[in-house]
Amino acid sequence: MTGKPAPRFWYRCRSCGHSRASDWLALPADLTGAACNSCGCEEITLYELATRAAVRLPRPLIPPVQRYTCCHCGGTGLDSLANTCPACLGAGFC
Ligand SMILES: [Zn+2]
Ligand SMILES: [Zn+2]
Repeated sequence: MTGKPAPRFWYRCRSCGHSRASDWLALPADLTGAACNSCGCEEITLYELATRAAVRLPRPLIPPVQRYTCCHCGGTGLDSLANTCPACLGAGFC
């Protein structure tokens, strides 16, 4: 027994692979600025050891837009005559 509380969180950097225990006692409400201690990269994954929950940072600010591949041109943005697809206007999704 060292008297120090066991780490409750762990992180791993997705950029450099560095991982270490975090000294947080609870997950901070604001994770802005949480970054790898080794390379400073903010692309880290946090693990809560008790629940095994993983939190990927940075958190997306807005949910990714759901896009559907254009069923008219199959996502190429061109129709069979290599003209701009009239269904998606050349974007390839609609
Ligand atoms: Zn790193
Ligand atoms: Zn199309």
